Parts: sequence; C-alpha cells; structure tokens
Amino acid sequence: MRSHYCGELRASDISADGRQQVILSGWVHRRRDHGGVIFLDLRDREGIVQVVFDPDREQSFTLADACRNEFVVQVHGIVRARPAGTENADMPTGEVEVLGQELVILNKSDTPPFQLDEHQSVGEDVRLKYRYVDLRRPDMAQKLKLRSKVSTFIRNFLDQNGFLDIETPILTRATPEGARDYLVPSRTHEGHFFALPQSPQLFKQLLMVAGMDRYYQIAKCFRDEDLRADRQPEFTQIDIETSFMDEDQIMGLTEQMVVELFRNQLDIDLGEFPRMPYAEAMEKYGSDKPDLRIPLQLVTVGELMQDVEFKVFSGPAKDPNGRVAALKVPGGNSMTRKQIDDYTKFVGIYGARGLAYIKVNNKADLEEGLQSPIVKFLPLEVRAQLLERLQAEDGDLIFFGADSEKIVNEALGALRCKIGEDLELMTCAWAPLWVVDFPMFEATSDGGITAIHHPFTAPSCSPEELAAAPLQGLSRAYDMVLNGTELGGGSIRIHDQSMQAKVFDLLQIDADEQQEKFGFLLDALKFGCPPHGGLAFGLDRLVMLMTDSSSIREVIAFPKTQSASCVMTQAPGVVANKQLRELNIKLREKVTDSQ
Ligand code: ASP
Repeated sequence: MRSHYCGELRASDISADGRQQVILSGWVHRRRDHGGVIFLDLRDREGIVQVVFDPDREQSFTLADACRNEFVVQVHGIVRARPAGTENADMPTGEVEVLGQELVILNKSDTPPFQLDEHQSVGEDVRLKYRYVDLRRPDMAQKLKLRSKVSTFIRNFLDQNGFLDIETPILTRATPEGARDYLVPSRTHEGHFFALPQSPQLFKQLLMVAGMDRYYQIAKCFRDEDLRADRQPEFTQIDIETSFMDEDQIMGLTEQMVVELFRNQLDIDLGEFPRMPYAEAMEKYGSDKPDLRIPLQLVTVGELMQDVEFKVFSGPAKDPNGRVAALKVPGGNSMTRKQIDDYTKFVGIYGARGLAYIKVNNKADLEEGLQSPIVKFLPLEVRAQLLERLQAEDGDLIFFGADSEKIVNEALGALRCKIGEDLELMTCAWAPLWVVDFPMFEATSDGGITAIHHPFTAPSCSPEELAAAPLQGLSRAYDMVLNGTELGGGSIRIHDQSMQAKVFDLLQIDADEQQEKFGFLLDALKFGCPPHGGLAFGLDRLVMLMTDSSSIREVIAFPKTQSASCVMTQAPGVVANKQLRELNIKLREKVTDSQ
C-alpha cells in the first residue's frame, strides 16, 4: 500500500519526468486550506511530508477537503520541488512536496483527545490513556525507534562476542533484589505462589554452572516498590553473565559495548571511564552515582567543628555516625534570601533540619567579612581553617550539612546536583564512570545488616575477615554511572558453597530458610560451579539518557503510572469470584491500618 515512507522523501526523489508516482499511506497530521489549494501534512512512522491538492482534480480535492486530523489516507502523487522560497529547513522533507493525484480515505477518526501538531501541554494521564495516539507524535516515535536500534545494537555486539541469548522463567521463585515480589497464585498448587522475577539473577548463575559461558537476555524484571522517583513496576534489563572473566575484563567488555553504542547511534565519544571507590564517591559527592558533570564537591569539616559551642555542628561532628560537611558554591554569595530559603526547603525533603550557610564577602576580614546567621558561633581560628580547607574566595557561598552521615550525604548530594542544574554549572555533556569497592553490607534500622547489591555478590576479603567485621568488608561489585544515573551494576559472584552459606549466615538467613529459598543454588554450587560474574543494565534508563527524556515513562511504549497502574487498560482490575475460587483465594474485608 505504499512505495515510500512519508518522512523519507528527499530532493533525490523528485520525479525527473514529472510523471512517476509515489504511493504514501499515513495519517493526516494537519490540513490547511490556502485559498483554493488544500495542503495535507501526511505523517507516518518515519516523519511528515506536505501533500498539495489542486482544485483541478476535483475528486481528490473534494476528499482532501473532507479530511480531518488523524484520518488514515492513501495518496498517489508526484514528488516535486517546493516552489522557491517555500522550502522548510526545519523539516527533513522540507525541500519537496507531493502533488496529490488520487486520495483514498482508508479510515476516519474522531477528533483526537489532544492535538499532535502542536507543542501543547497535555496531562500525562490523558497521554497514557490514549497512548496509541500519543505514540504517533513524531518525537515519541523517534524514541521508540532509537530504543529498537539500541537493543539491536546490543544484541549484535553481544552475539559477536560469543554471548548466547537464553530465556529464563517469568513464573518462578523470589530472587532477592531488595524489593517486594509480585506474586502469582498457583491454581494447581493450592496456597502456593509463584513470584515474578525481580531479575534473572539465579537462573543466569545456574546457566554458568551449566557451562553456557556467556549469557545475555533483554529481560523483563518486576519489582513491587513504592514508586518514588522514576521507577516502573516492570522494566527491562540487559542482563549479562560470564564465566572465567574477572571484574576488569567484565567492566572492560561492557564499557566497550556502551562506548560503541554511543558512537554508533549518537556520534558521541564517551572516552575512557574513570573508576572511583564507593568511599570516595560518598565523601566527595554524597552519592554512589555521582554526576561528574558538576564541578562542586562536598568537603568534610567535622574535626574543625568538634569543639565549637554550636551544638548543631559539634553534635554530629562528635558522633561516629554523624557527618559535618560543607559545599562551596563559587560566586554563590549573590544568591538571594529567597533562593537560600528554597534550597533549605529542598534539603528538608531529605530529612535535613536546616541549611546553614556563610557568604564570603571579604575573607581577609574574619570578623566582618563573613555574612551568616551562624558565623558568630564559630571561633575566629575555626573560620580561618574553614576558609583555608575550602579554598574559599571572596564572592563564594558555603552551605553546611550536619546530621547523621546518611542525611548529610543525601541532602548535600542532592543539593549539589540541584545547584549544578540551577546555576548551569555543567562542565561537559557526558560524564561516565565506574563506582567500585562497594561495601558488602549496610546496617538496617533494626540493627541487622543487609546486602548492598544482592547476597550472591562475592566479597573481596576472606570469609573469616568478613565474619569478623561484616560492615567493613568490601565486595567485588561495580556500577556503571552516567550523568548521575546508575546505568547498570553487577559483581563477581560467590561460586563457593561454604562462602555462600557464610554470607547467608551473616544476613541471618538460617539453615532452614537457606534450604527452603535457595537450596537449588547451594546444591548447584556443589556440582562444579565455575568462577563467574556479570551485570545488568537498565535499558529504559539507558534510552532515557540517550534521548534526553525527562522520565523513563517517555521511552516505554506502555508504562504504568506513578501508582503502578495502567490508565489505558485499567490494570490491575478486579476478577470474578469464580476465578478467585479456582485459585482458592478469598478476599478479606478491607482492613484499616490499626487492625
Ligand atoms: N541482578 C542484578 C540486578 O538486577 C544485576 C547483576 O548483579 O547482574 O541489579
């Protein structure tokens, strides 16, 4: 039904003899009546071309006149150069137009719920409800096309490097990745449930035990998380596992994959990725995914503050779990009271109870040259040491965070990024890095410990050292970070059964539970498990960054809302009692929180 895509027509397609026809099929993007001549902008997946209908072809002219936005039509016509002066340099097809000779209306359309030809601001709920209309918008189609190109590129790269594409089950048992599971009741096993995979982690490890050597899968993963920030309950991972490769080799190969992807698809050279230990990332950036485009850094000033009378500083400075850090904003002392108040509210989101600051007006005058509600609490020598430590200059502004280490890191880490954006401080467009040397575990609020990655990650110390000081032990994990977003992460795995059992012990998973939940893994480790490791990239986030989109929902064809539902299909939905009975499920009366 077509000879060309609308968006592909170029000057080279101009009919030399003025007779050779093209056939186009698509949607009416816009109809304009220009004093007796009808213009239809015709759109398909590849773009838009202008089609002109003259009144001297009465039948097609009348039909063109009857067309409305989003009608589906087929056009036979001649490609010709646009009249001089009417070319449109903003459109890839802007040098040409099609003289419409025949028009068939293939289908009509109701007035669409929103216009596609304008940068109209449409609520996201409406866009998601009519997603099939929303995806017709050229920029949305462009994103899905790039997504397809990215996955094809990655498949080819991994295939050329000897990776096998192997599918793993969706109906399975829980794989701990730190979120709640989506459960599926079993009809045939009363009272039993499948879990949807939070990742294919255990299966890909078992594929290494099975000798598959190099595995990949573009895999759907399911995590029932409170959808803070930009998460989706189902999302796509580029999941990778290899045998007999160490972390340097795995990082090297996957870095090469991402570098070639950016070069190939976007003509961008990401260069070589620096590596940064986790401890340094937290110290300087307050984050394990630092955005290195922003030149600001956090500086610990706790030991300067230990003895000051200002308890807000001296308290956390003396507390082993506390932190006092400063963030210097060069030239920031022109900030208004209102801006500082806004930043104070902003850090409040992260639990900070205030945002102390000093404006450095004249660093030579420690008495009068520092403007700040708190400077009076700091002895002169502390002021001097502080300015020295921060290399502060006249005109700078210094923000402080003083609280538990966690709150200070989160609050000042986020403030650093916000100021970087607000003041347009970015020093480059792309800043990739690897974060390495993660701790194995972190403390939980109830006094226990939990795995930072997942419990299958190998430590870089011996089991005895790990047992002696679990929170000090480092892991063989690595994360790839780009512009402050974690693109992917993984680790060398435990391939030794006793080490795996030790880690489960430290996580207080007792022997029965180990057997019940992971018996199959512990068994497999006994049957010749090779050293192995891998990682997974978030495809949605990767494409989001590559298309400069504001959210991962923009690069997923049919995403869920922030409350994990689909406004188009109305999923999740209620089910008939019969279905529930078959599943041996009885719904409880809705209970209130206090019950
Ligand atoms: N399974 C891990 C995740 O989903 C990735 C990995 O360790 O390979 O984060």
